[in-house]
Amino acid sequence: MEKRNIVGADLADISGFVTGHGLPKYLAREIALWVYRRGAKSFDEMTNISKAARTLLDKHFIFKLSPPVKVQVSSDGTKKYLFSSLNNKFIETAYMPDKKRNTLCVSTQVGCKMGCRFCMTARQGLQGQLSAGDILNQILGLPEKDTLTNLVYMGMGEPFDNTDEVLKSLDIITSDYGMAISPRKITVSTIGLIPGMKRFIEHSKCNLAISMHSPFDEERKKLMPVQKLYPIDEIIQLLKASNFEKQRRISFEYILFKGLNDTDAHVKQLARILNGLRCKINLMHFHTIPGSSLTGCDDASIKSFQDKLNDKGIVATVRASRGEDILAACGMLSTGAILGSTAVPNNSPEPAN
Ligand code: SF4
Repeated sequence: MEKRNIVGADLADISGFVTGHGLPKYLAREIALWVYRRGAKSFDEMTNISKAARTLLDKHFIFKLSPPVKVQVSSDGTKKYLFSSLNNKFIETAYMPDKKRNTLCVSTQVGCKMGCRFCMTARQGLQGQLSAGDILNQILGLPEKDTLTNLVYMGMGEPFDNTDEVLKSLDIITSDYGMAISPRKITVSTIGLIPGMKRFIEHSKCNLAISMHSPFDEERKKLMPVQKLYPIDEIIQLLKASNFEKQRRISFEYILFKGLNDTDAHVKQLARILNGLRCKINLMHFHTIPGSSLTGCDDASIKSFQDKLNDKGIVATVRASRGEDILAACGMLSTGAILGSTAVPNNSPEPAN
């Protein structure tokens, strides 16, 4: 029998083990608390659990937390960690300390198959799905884990192309048997895979960010092939129909590309399609990636676009770039070179779920 890692097991998994072995039911919660809250690194440290139960645990599970194998530190204090996932692939995780908040940007896949034109991870292609344990290990294995205030699922990969494991990890992070982090401190970012979004809306209370980058169909298709399957209008209709914004925050991410999506017509169209939805737009700098013909807007143009949106009644903020000098900023994460991978062509993704 292959032993599973206890890191990544939710309460249902642990309860199944406990009851299956005739152990008292309350032990499931105790075990989970040791793994996710009390900082245990081995079954032997679970001192209020009988030796016999610990021996059984040891027989059925491994307890493996993997620390990062490498760190790079940016001049702005951002740290980019390289983690080896449990199936021996590599992923990157960005830790961004700030005055009031310390945010961790976690990955959900090794690479990505969604083919967004502005993204370095896309060049890598999809090389593996992370398990809930791999996702949680980026938090539990982080040297600064006790300082974290916010979590964003915005690293490598599309979360809703790995929905089961993402939802499981969110459940463990937010539950009182797990890390007990408020869902209001967590944001999941998606390009808009509607089946996964629907499950997320139903099962999670975390915030949602949607990568928009253009309000126009043909233009968004060129930037993000996913638009062919799940148009931005349908995504917005889904959010309006679900009353999602009444309980949680919705934001739209919008990278400003010079001469492409920065015109008054874009401001007008954004105001039109977002009318009636309580949300904000996060304007972002483009972080240039090799071989891309796209060019980012300068600070003044971004400010001007922000003002025009605000004048239309749309809350728009500008996201500060973090970690650009160590390739840790948005859209720059990739472990393709480490893996020596063969990239999946950018123009042929098959968004799944
Ligand atoms: S932006 Fe996100 S969904 Fe698009 S290719 Fe990059 S990682 Fe994948």
